[in-house]
Formats: sequence, C-alpha cells, structure tokens
Amino acid sequence: MRRLLIAGNWKMNTNVGEGEALAEALRDVDTNSVDVLVAPPFTHIDRVARALKGTEVFLGAQNVSEDTCGAHTGEIAAEMLADLSVDYVIVGHSECRGRGEVDATVAKKAARALDAGLLPIICFGESEEVYGSKERVDFLKKQVEASLAGIKDLDKITLAYEPIWAIGTGKTADAADADAVIGQVRAALDPAIQGKVRILYGGSVKSSNVAGFVAKENIDGVLVGGASLKADEFKAIAREA
Ligand code: 13P
Repeated sequence: MRRLLIAGNWKMNTNVGEGEALAEALRDVDTNSVDVLVAPPFTHIDRVARALKGTEVFLGAQNVSEDTCGAHTGEIAAEMLADLSVDYVIVGHSECRGRGEVDATVAKKAARALDAGLLPIICFGESEEVYGSKERVDFLKKQVEASLAGIKDLDKITLAYEPIWAIGTGKTADAADADAVIGQVRAALDPAIQGKVRILYGGSVKSSNVAGFVAKENIDGVLVGGASLKADEFKAIAREA
C-alpha cells in the first residue's frame, strides 16, 4: 500500500509572520495515517521549519534551480534547500510551466533535487482544451515521460496530476475520471516503479471532497493550494483523507 501524502502548496501567499503562525497551528495535524507536507515560499522556509520542529510534518519548496550553486542570479539551488532541512520540492507546477518552463527543464530540476537528497513532486496536467480532446491521455503520458527524462531514482519521485482548469477555480475533476487517467499514466511508467510511485490529485481540493479522491485506487494523496492556507481546513483535509 502506498501511504497517502497530503501536501499544502502555499504558492506566493502569506508574509513570514503569517506563515509562521500557520505552521504553528499545524503542529497538531494528525500524521498517524497520512504523510503531511507544507510548501511555503522560499523566504519563509527557515522560520516554518523551526515552527514545525519536533513534528512529523514534512517541509517542501515550490521550485528549485536546474543548476548547482554558481553564477545564477535569482535562483535557489537544491543544495540550499537541503541545507534548510527541506524534504520535498514541487517542480513543473502549471503556474511555472505557464511562465515558460518546459518538460526538459522540469526533468533537470527533478534530477538536481534528487542529487541533493530531496524528493521531487513532479506536476503534470492538461488545459481545458486538451481535456476535451481525444489527445488528452497521450498528451499527459508524453508530458510525464518528458518530465522524467534521464532521471535515475524514479522510485523516489512523486507525481501530481493537476488539471489546469481545476486549479483555483472551484471546479474539481470528477474523481472517477481523475482515477482513470492517473491509472493510464501509471500504466505507462517503468514497470519496476509503477506500483511504488505516489500520484496525487490537485485542483480545488477541500475537506468536503478529499475523501472521494483518495478513496480511488490510483490516487495517493492530494496537492492543495487555496485550502492549505487555513490551518483548520488543511487539518480537516488530512483528517478526512
Ligand atoms: P487550488 O487547491 O487552489 O485549486 O490549487 C491547486 C494547486 O495548484 C496546488 O499545487
């Protein structure tokens, strides 16, 4: 059985004090039966790490450089995140892909993360236009394949299916449909890791709909945006999962 991962992506929200308070309020989140992760903005990671010290909550970052340390103005290296005790890093989020990040860059970022001992969460997902087309499954399989290109430790990867049209819109995917499409993506992975890799669903997840997703065979947790910014709601998501 794959253990569920309940991940909160705070995106570009909260100031440091608010982030620290949110982390403090998550100290009693129930991690007995699920893994819980928060991914604050880079600027908050150190303070959030301190606020969560002694808990089982994992710490994530929302992006990472494709390069190692050096002359890369404005970038954050995987080694720097590891130095802050970061466990996971989200790569290939559609909000990053939308700013020009391509599959090959996503694969390089995931490889740098693994080199530094971090666990990448690689996002994939289709636009509303592709969702409605017969190319949908092929598109998703190709996106995942290209985003994993050259990665050796495939068993350390987590994937996250985030249909772009479901992000921040209140329009969730149908759980049965998400399960089916994730199953097809899973079946296209290297057989050696097919059963091991966690694949999450993300897009307008909240405490009232999480159970329907995680009950599905192929859905191993959720990546939560907006609803992860309220401690009570995020704890309810972890509880209902
Ligand atoms: P929302 O939960 O706000 O739809 O965001 C999902 C997401 O993009 C998580 O990475």
